[in-house]
Amino acid sequence: MEKGHPSKERTFVAIKPDGIQRTLIGEIIKRYERMGLKMVAIKIMVATEDHIEKHYTLDPAWRTVTGEKTIASYKKKGLTPPSEDPLEITAKILANLKTYMTSGPILAMVWQGAHAVEVVRKVTGGTEPLTSDVGSIRGDFVLDSYSMSDTDNRAVRNLIHASGSVDEAEMEINHWFKPEELIEYRLVQEQIIYDVNIDGILE
Ligand code: GDP
Ligand code: MG
Repeated sequence: MEKGHPSKERTFVAIKPDGIQRTLIGEIIKRYERMGLKMVAIKIMVATEDHIEKHYTLDPAWRTVTGEKTIASYKKKGLTPPSEDPLEITAKILANLKTYMTSGPILAMVWQGAHAVEVVRKVTGGTEPLTSDVGSIRGDFVLDSYSMSDTDNRAVRNLIHASGSVDEAEMEINHWFKPEELIEYRLVQEQIIYDVNIDGILE
Protein backbone atom coordinates (compact mmCIF):
# COMPACT_ATOMS: atom_id res chain seq x y z
CA MET A 1 0.00 0.00 0.00
CA GLU A 2 1.46 3.40 -0.97
CA LYS A 3 2.50 6.04 1.59
CA GLY A 4 -0.42 8.26 2.62
CA HIS A 5 -3.06 5.57 1.96
CA PRO A 6 -5.80 5.58 4.68
CA SER A 7 -4.68 2.12 5.80
CA LYS A 8 -1.43 3.73 7.06
CA GLU A 9 -3.09 5.78 9.81
CA ARG A 10 -1.49 5.20 13.19
CA THR A 11 -2.55 5.76 16.77
CA PHE A 12 -0.82 5.59 20.13
CA VAL A 13 -2.40 3.40 22.79
CA ALA A 14 -1.16 2.73 26.32
CA ILE A 15 -2.52 0.21 28.79
CA LYS A 16 -2.25 2.16 32.02
CA PRO A 17 -0.95 0.64 35.29
CA ASP A 18 -4.48 -0.36 36.43
CA GLY A 19 -5.06 -2.24 33.16
CA ILE A 20 -1.91 -4.27 33.72
CA GLN A 21 -2.80 -4.94 37.37
CA ARG A 22 -6.30 -6.04 36.33
CA THR A 23 -4.60 -8.58 34.00
CA LEU A 24 -6.46 -7.20 30.99
CA ILE A 25 -3.53 -6.98 28.54
CA GLY A 26 -4.75 -9.89 26.41
CA GLU A 27 -8.39 -8.79 26.52
CA ILE A 28 -7.55 -5.23 25.45
CA ILE A 29 -5.17 -6.21 22.65
CA LYS A 30 -7.75 -8.68 21.36
CA ARG A 31 -10.32 -5.90 20.94
CA TYR A 32 -8.06 -3.87 18.64
CA GLU A 33 -6.56 -6.86 16.84
CA ARG A 34 -9.88 -8.44 15.89
CA MET A 35 -11.07 -5.20 14.22
CA GLY A 36 -8.31 -5.62 11.65
CA LEU A 37 -5.84 -3.16 13.10
CA LYS A 38 -2.14 -4.06 12.99
CA MET A 39 0.21 -3.64 15.93
CA VAL A 40 3.40 -1.97 14.69
CA ALA A 41 5.15 -1.22 18.01
CA ILE A 42 4.94 -2.39 21.61
CA LYS A 43 6.96 -2.10 24.80
CA ILE A 44 6.42 -2.46 28.52
CA MET A 45 7.95 0.31 30.60
CA VAL A 46 7.74 2.33 33.79
CA ALA A 47 7.37 5.98 32.83
CA THR A 48 8.92 8.88 34.73
CA GLU A 49 6.77 11.77 36.01
CA ASP A 50 8.51 14.06 33.55
CA HIS A 51 7.64 11.75 30.64
CA ILE A 52 3.98 11.70 31.73
CA GLU A 53 3.79 15.49 32.13
CA LYS A 54 5.25 15.94 28.62
CA HIS A 55 2.82 13.34 27.25
CA TYR A 56 -0.23 15.23 28.52
CA THR A 57 1.10 18.66 27.54
CA LEU A 58 2.35 17.83 24.01
CA ASP A 59 -0.60 19.95 22.93
CA PRO A 60 0.07 23.39 24.43
CA ALA A 61 -3.70 23.99 24.68
CA TRP A 62 -4.31 20.85 26.80
CA ARG A 63 -4.05 22.63 30.17
CA THR A 64 -6.61 25.29 29.23
CA VAL A 65 -8.96 23.01 27.30
CA THR A 66 -9.04 20.27 29.97
CA GLY A 67 -9.51 22.82 32.76
CA GLU A 68 -12.39 24.53 30.93
CA LYS A 69 -13.98 21.19 30.03
CA THR A 70 -13.81 20.03 33.66
CA ILE A 71 -15.34 23.30 35.00
CA ALA A 72 -18.16 23.00 32.44
CA SER A 73 -18.83 19.37 33.39
CA TYR A 74 -19.11 20.28 37.11
CA LYS A 75 -21.59 23.06 36.29
CA LYS A 76 -23.63 20.82 33.98
CA LYS A 77 -24.12 18.44 36.89
CA GLY A 78 -25.16 21.35 39.14
CA LEU A 79 -21.92 21.09 41.15
CA THR A 80 -19.49 23.84 42.14
CA PRO A 81 -16.05 23.33 40.54
CA PRO A 82 -13.11 23.30 42.99
CA SER A 83 -11.78 26.42 41.22
CA GLU A 84 -12.87 28.83 38.47
CA ASP A 85 -9.32 28.91 37.15
CA PRO A 86 -8.86 26.26 34.40
CA LEU A 87 -5.10 26.12 34.97
CA GLU A 88 -5.53 25.47 38.68
CA ILE A 89 -7.92 22.60 37.89
CA THR A 90 -5.53 21.08 35.35
CA ALA A 91 -2.55 21.38 37.71
CA LYS A 92 -4.39 19.10 40.17
CA ILE A 93 -5.48 16.68 37.40
CA LEU A 94 -1.92 16.54 36.09
CA ALA A 95 -0.42 15.90 39.55
CA ASN A 96 -2.86 13.01 40.07
CA LEU A 97 -2.17 11.66 36.56
CA LYS A 98 1.57 11.64 37.28
CA THR A 99 1.05 9.59 40.46
CA TYR A 100 -1.31 7.19 38.67
CA MET A 101 0.69 6.74 35.48
CA THR A 102 4.01 6.12 37.25
CA SER A 103 2.57 3.69 39.82
CA GLY A 104 3.55 0.60 37.81
CA PRO A 105 4.39 -0.61 34.33
CA ILE A 106 2.57 0.71 31.27
CA LEU A 107 2.20 -1.15 27.96
CA ALA A 108 2.86 1.35 25.16
CA MET A 109 1.70 0.41 21.65
CA VAL A 110 1.18 1.77 18.16
CA TRP A 111 -1.73 0.41 16.11
CA GLN A 112 -2.12 0.96 12.38
CA GLY A 113 -5.06 0.73 10.00
CA ALA A 114 -7.88 2.68 8.37
CA HIS A 115 -9.35 5.25 10.79
CA ALA A 116 -7.06 3.86 13.52
CA VAL A 117 -7.51 6.91 15.78
CA GLU A 118 -11.30 6.95 15.58
CA VAL A 119 -11.94 3.21 15.76
CA VAL A 120 -9.61 2.77 18.73
CA ARG A 121 -11.42 5.58 20.61
CA LYS A 122 -14.76 3.99 19.73
CA VAL A 123 -13.83 0.53 20.98
CA THR A 124 -12.06 1.98 24.05
CA GLY A 125 -15.11 4.02 25.10
CA GLY A 126 -15.52 7.49 26.63
CA THR A 127 -12.98 8.80 29.15
CA GLU A 128 -15.20 8.47 32.24
CA PRO A 129 -15.92 4.74 32.78
CA LEU A 130 -19.28 5.46 34.44
CA THR A 131 -20.65 6.82 31.17
CA SER A 132 -18.60 4.76 28.67
CA ASP A 133 -20.84 2.75 26.35
CA VAL A 134 -21.59 -0.85 27.29
CA GLY A 135 -19.62 -3.02 24.89
CA SER A 136 -16.62 -0.67 24.91
CA ILE A 137 -13.54 -1.76 26.88
CA ARG A 138 -14.08 0.84 29.60
CA GLY A 139 -17.83 0.22 29.69
CA ASP A 140 -17.26 -3.50 30.15
CA PHE A 141 -14.31 -3.57 32.56
CA VAL A 142 -14.30 -0.49 34.83
CA LEU A 143 -16.69 1.20 37.22
CA ASP A 144 -14.75 4.33 38.15
CA SER A 145 -16.19 7.86 37.92
CA TYR A 146 -15.05 11.48 38.16
CA SER A 147 -17.16 11.94 41.31
CA MET A 148 -15.47 9.03 43.08
CA SER A 149 -11.96 9.93 41.88
CA ASP A 150 -12.52 13.58 42.88
CA THR A 151 -13.76 12.53 46.34
CA ASP A 152 -10.59 10.52 46.82
CA ASN A 153 -8.40 13.15 45.14
CA ARG A 154 -6.91 10.83 42.53
CA ALA A 155 -6.96 10.34 38.76
CA VAL A 156 -9.86 8.44 37.25
CA ARG A 157 -8.79 4.82 36.56
CA ASN A 158 -9.86 4.09 33.02
CA LEU A 159 -7.37 1.37 31.94
CA ILE A 160 -6.23 2.91 28.66
CA HIS A 161 -4.92 6.01 26.96
CA ALA A 162 -5.69 6.41 23.25
CA SER A 163 -4.79 9.38 21.02
CA GLY A 164 -7.64 11.79 20.40
CA SER A 165 -6.72 12.92 16.87
CA VAL A 166 -4.31 12.12 14.04
CA ASP A 167 -2.11 15.11 15.01
CA GLU A 168 -2.08 14.06 18.66
CA ALA A 169 -1.22 10.50 17.60
CA GLU A 170 1.80 11.68 15.65
CA MET A 171 3.12 13.71 18.58
CA GLU A 172 2.48 10.88 21.05
CA ILE A 173 4.10 8.19 18.88
CA ASN A 174 7.22 10.38 18.62
CA HIS A 175 7.15 10.94 22.36
CA TRP A 176 6.96 7.24 23.28
CA PHE A 177 8.85 5.50 20.45
CA LYS A 178 12.02 5.89 18.41
CA PRO A 179 11.41 5.62 14.64
CA GLU A 180 13.31 2.31 14.49
CA GLU A 181 10.94 0.77 17.04
CA LEU A 182 8.07 0.97 14.53
CA ILE A 183 7.93 -2.10 12.31
CA GLU A 184 6.69 -1.85 8.74
CA TYR A 185 5.31 -5.18 7.64
CA ARG A 186 2.40 -6.77 5.84
CA LEU A 187 -0.37 -8.78 7.44
CA VAL A 188 -1.84 -11.44 5.20
CA GLN A 189 -5.40 -10.36 6.14
CA GLU A 190 -4.78 -6.87 4.71
CA GLN A 191 -5.44 -8.33 1.27
CA ILE A 192 -9.05 -8.94 2.33
CA ILE A 193 -9.42 -5.67 4.23
CA TYR A 194 -7.84 -3.27 1.72
CA ASP A 195 -7.05 -4.75 -1.69
CA VAL A 196 -9.21 -3.36 -4.48
CA ASN A 197 -9.35 -6.68 -6.32
CA ILE A 198 -9.93 -9.70 -4.16
CA ASP A 199 -8.10 -12.30 -6.19
CA GLY A 200 -5.72 -15.19 -5.71
CA ILE A 201 -8.00 -16.92 -3.22
CA LEU A 202 -9.74 -19.55 -5.33
CA GLU A 203 -7.54 -22.38 -6.56
P1 GDP B 1 -8.81 11.22 27.10
O1 GDP B 1 -8.15 11.70 25.87
O2 GDP B 1 -10.06 10.45 26.83
O3 GDP B 1 -7.90 10.48 28.04
O4 GDP B 1 -9.30 12.49 27.92
P2 GDP B 1 -8.60 13.92 28.10
O5 GDP B 1 -7.38 14.04 27.26
O6 GDP B 1 -9.67 14.93 27.98
O7 GDP B 1 -8.20 13.86 29.63
C1 GDP B 1 -7.05 13.21 30.05
C2 GDP B 1 -7.21 12.84 31.50
O8 GDP B 1 -7.58 13.99 32.29
C3 GDP B 1 -8.32 11.82 31.77
O9 GDP B 1 -7.91 10.48 31.61
C4 GDP B 1 -8.69 12.15 33.22
O10 GDP B 1 -7.79 11.51 34.10
C5 GDP B 1 -8.48 13.64 33.33
N1 GDP B 1 -9.74 14.36 33.14
C6 GDP B 1 -10.27 14.82 31.99
N2 GDP B 1 -11.45 15.42 32.19
C7 GDP B 1 -11.70 15.34 33.53
C8 GDP B 1 -12.78 15.78 34.38
O11 GDP B 1 -13.80 16.37 33.95
N3 GDP B 1 -12.67 15.53 35.72
C9 GDP B 1 -11.58 14.89 36.25
N4 GDP B 1 -11.54 14.66 37.55
N5 GDP B 1 -10.55 14.45 35.47
C10 GDP B 1 -10.60 14.68 34.14
MG1 MG C 1 -6.68 13.09 25.51
